[in-house]
Amino acid sequence: MRLRNVTGSREYIADSRFVIHEPKEQKGRWKEVFGNENPLRIEIGMGKGRFIMQLAKENPDVNYVGIEKYSTVLLRAIQKMEAEELPNIVFIRMDAEEICEVFAPEEVDRIYLNFSDPWPKDRHAKRRLESREFLARYNECLKKDGVIEFKTDNKMLFDFALEEVPEAGWHIDAVTYDLHKDEAMMQGNVMTEYEEKFSAMGNPIYKYIISR
Ligand code: SAM
Repeated sequence: MRLRNVTGSREYIADSRFVIHEPKEQKGRWKEVFGNENPLRIEIGMGKGRFIMQLAKENPDVNYVGIEKYSTVLLRAIQKMEAEELPNIVFIRMDAEEICEVFAPEEVDRIYLNFSDPWPKDRHAKRRLESREFLARYNECLKKDGVIEFKTDNKMLFDFALEEVPEAGWHIDAVTYDLHKDEAMMQGNVMTEYEEKFSAMGNPIYKYIISR
């Protein structure tokens, strides 16, 4: 998701109190950021933030960090927060490649990946957020019993993601090839922006939950 250049989006973000501007300084100190001991869940590539903000609203006893690479996209999430402020969520603008510099071992309780960029060329496979390289990064900061939840409508990306799971030493706890028709896995499902768009077009939504 890349919105057209929004003039001044970087400056706008730099002034926002909903954004953690030096996230590496918070490594190991996220409890202090939120001022409580609640579990910390993160979404990588949150886009405009609809999914994670809805989770934050529904689960006031959980802390959330939304991570997004592009300022122009993050800006939209900030604007939503300005309209409806939530105490248990903050945003970071960064590339997920740096995740281990931002979260300490065992600091993250759950990771959400939703409709990640597919990077269709084989030579770009390492950039996919579900690749073994990224799973190795998540391995460093996710609690021992933590899980990753991934949704997409992209079959190529989903098949790739499933193959990467055992390669990285993880295992699949649950999987569906049609989430919206899977009663058990649909329980408590929160739709993302892309999920709403692609399911409305009739695309099945794939989902896995994995752990180590
Ligand atoms: N998760 C949202 C949804 O389901 O509606 C947005 C999906 S959009 C296709 C993917 C988002 O992930 C984009 O906003 C993109 O900028 C972001 N993204 C892709 N690679 C990223 C990375 N390495 N680090 C952080 N964000 C990333």
